[in-house]
Amino acid sequence: MDDAALSQQIQQGLYKIGMVLRAHAWKEAYGSGLSPTQGAILAALLWEEEGLSLKEVANALGIRPPTASDAVHTLVSKGWVTKGADPEDGRQVRIRLTPDGRRVAGEVVQWPEIMAPTLEVLSREEKVALLRILLKMIRSFQEKGQISPARMCLNCQHFHPHRYPGTAQPHYCAFVEAPFGEGDLRVACPDFQEAPPQRREEVWSRLGWRP
Ligand code: SF4
Repeated sequence: MDDAALSQQIQQGLYKIGMVLRAHAWKEAYGSGLSPTQGAILAALLWEEEGLSLKEVANALGIRPPTASDAVHTLVSKGWVTKGADPEDGRQVRIRLTPDGRRVAGEVVQWPEIMAPTLEVLSREEKVALLRILLKMIRSFQEKGQISPARMCLNCQHFHPHRYPGTAQPHYCAFVEAPFGEGDLRVACPDFQEAPPQRREEVWSRLGWRP
């Protein structure tokens, strides 16, 4: 199979998995009296301790800001999210889950329930390889401005790749002051602190993950 045909097969595979996840999320959202967009917003906020701006919500879902604004307005009226001033920029609004919203979001996001048995067919090596692939893909979406920067190690001020080259735990997290391996890279970390763009580029170069 040549490279183009292989890429096409991967695209079809990702599309099928995406369809399963979307259908499942929609079913859960519908059962909670939510539209799929409202359910997706609750899900996006579930992993964001600091909340999201309206623009970040729209970016995360790939929808227009007015559509995101309408859905957020409905969620506020249901008491599931709040809109408050951003402590770092008073002109910005941060959208956060209320305790009730967090409970509903937890019900909506049942992906682990259907994904966990599926992931168990993969070996440890395959899971580590898949994590690397996902991180590369998330970064690519991010670089094109299609999603907002994820709270992942690759974007984090505390991340020091390959500080201990040639070891099983080559990377270092300055927040927990400990080395860690590739299988411990985080996709959504509560201790994340965003690194400036130049540092993110340096990290990317040092990782050596370019094709
Ligand atoms: S604080 Fe979290 S995101 Fe940052 S390097 Fe450590 S584990 Fe990774």
